[in-house]
Amino acid sequence: MAARSNKHLAGDATNVNYTDSLKDIRPEPDAIIVGAGFGGLYALHRLKQIGLSVEGFEAGAGVGGTWYWNRYPGARCDIESMQYSYSFSDKLQQEWKWQEKYAPQAEILRYIEHVAERFDLLKLIQFNTRIVSASFDDNLERWIVTTDRGESKSARYLILATGPLSTANTPAIRGLDRFSGRIFHTGAWPHEPVDFIGRSVGVIGTGSSGIQIIPELAQVAKDLIVFQRTPNFSIPSRNGPLTPARERMFKERYKVFREEIKRLPSGIFFETTGKSTEEVSPEERQSGFEEAWAKGGVGFVRTFTDIILNPEANTSASDFIRAKIAEIVENPTVASALQPKTYPLGAKRICVDTGYYETFNKSNVSLIDVSKTPITHITSKAVSTVDADYPLDDIVFATGFDALTGAILAIDIKGSAGRSLKDKWKEGPSTYLGLMAAGFPNMFMVAGPGSPSILGNVVVSIEQHVDWISACLEYMHNHDVDVIDAKPDAEAQWDAHVNEVAQSSLFQQADSWYLGSNIPGKPRKFLAYAGGYGVYRDKCAEIASSGYEGFIFRKSPVLAASN
Ligand code: NAP
Repeated sequence: MAARSNKHLAGDATNVNYTDSLKDIRPEPDAIIVGAGFGGLYALHRLKQIGLSVEGFEAGAGVGGTWYWNRYPGARCDIESMQYSYSFSDKLQQEWKWQEKYAPQAEILRYIEHVAERFDLLKLIQFNTRIVSASFDDNLERWIVTTDRGESKSARYLILATGPLSTANTPAIRGLDRFSGRIFHTGAWPHEPVDFIGRSVGVIGTGSSGIQIIPELAQVAKDLIVFQRTPNFSIPSRNGPLTPARERMFKERYKVFREEIKRLPSGIFFETTGKSTEEVSPEERQSGFEEAWAKGGVGFVRTFTDIILNPEANTSASDFIRAKIAEIVENPTVASALQPKTYPLGAKRICVDTGYYETFNKSNVSLIDVSKTPITHITSKAVSTVDADYPLDDIVFATGFDALTGAILAIDIKGSAGRSLKDKWKEGPSTYLGLMAAGFPNMFMVAGPGSPSILGNVVVSIEQHVDWISACLEYMHNHDVDVIDAKPDAEAQWDAHVNEVAQSSLFQQADSWYLGSNIPGKPRKFLAYAGGYGVYRDKCAEIASSGYEGFIFRKSPVLAASN
């Protein structure tokens, strides 16, 4: 789409009379975009492309979001890089050369930095700046944000691209502040290299992050103590260099392929048998699982079409993984502790690893099952459970995130009539399509609660969200309206639908960050839309083409005067 300049969309430089240090001589932007990860960068690019003036704010010193903060050893994406990447520029996807099938953090960060430079986005972003509050001024009909530097800025539109997994969660274990060793969190890893050689290291948490860092630390630490509360299902990644044949396969049909994945439930393309477990003999079922295990990756769960839907199929897939764990891990007690037994495969996020189960055969690695012997406190030198003290030099928290709502609610957001978002969401988030919250006009979320984002390929979701938002802003311009809000009843209906779909899913069968149950006091509510990305995408498109059913538009005399 050609960039355009016009009075309504571009250069909405209202000379507003709000308080504070508006020392900045730049005019007020049309849109403020919070976050410079995959979502924020694409929002900056896309909105700039439709002729809006945009300004980004990012707490980090550089772009990358998740891939900026999660620099821990072993961090990599478990969706193939040929898929976990932007599709909006064919030139970009043809020219960028991924090195590995599953790119490590550093490679993904290089890619994001390349995108920011290539599309000239860096100059639009104020780094090292956290947005601490955002209020919709009903008189000015603009969002006014304040930063942790004490600055203010206003814009007609506020886009929250704050990341669904960006607020690191460190459990409040008694005595943590007295620990005299080093403390790390996988989600906020230091930028400089950290040396663990010859040290006693404890890792708390065995989700995707723990499962990635544990094999790395085991190679260098003197002792590695893994504190596991709930075991996860993990599939070997079988990562390696991206083969020229696989790269060619994607690049030759990238356009078609990217179109195809728009219809898929997770926005990820998997090679599957296309058959259900009921259509094959027990021998074929077993060989199907063996083949998928040998191939590696999260696609294991798609080996047969009914693994997620049919409890019997799910049990056979779960049994297969449990048997693999028993085969790999030499100590039967440790193997048993590592086998998930209390929930079905897929109820918690499936992990992908490089040598995770094998790590427990190393003589310097111990597994402490804290579901049986809970951590009670931390002393200056040790993590203590009900029955022992584990002296440590370093503690690594791989304890996850305050998912989806954490980063949004870390900003003191006040909508129309001063209504606080925290208050609105005190029983859990409710949104319309995961894109807007009623009462918060002209505020959009990218990969927000109530959208499918975190249940699949989040880059695919991000592109769809940002494209939808930019098309909506163009629609507003073409229809000469200034303000959009979600209708409360449309939001309530979407919320009910999100809950209904979640109730019938596997996700209810295990405690996880999907339900907010990892954060003490967080309302237990399924945070994403589990109806599938393809279905969701169609729904969003249908709503847009019906004239944005469920949204309310109005013309603003104040904004109109400033056009
Ligand atoms: P997570 O899945 O929430 O795992 C946190 C771990 O910490 C769990 O094992 C949890 O145990 C444990 N834990 C939390 N509080 C604890 C406490 N007080 N005592 C003992 N154990 C405690 O977090 P994550 O591993 O950082 O992963 C979060 C999400 O980020 C993933 O699900 C994935 O979506 C994304 N991610 C993706 C990749 C990738 O692409 N490969 C890598 C990393 C992260 P319980 O299960 O018992 O609560």
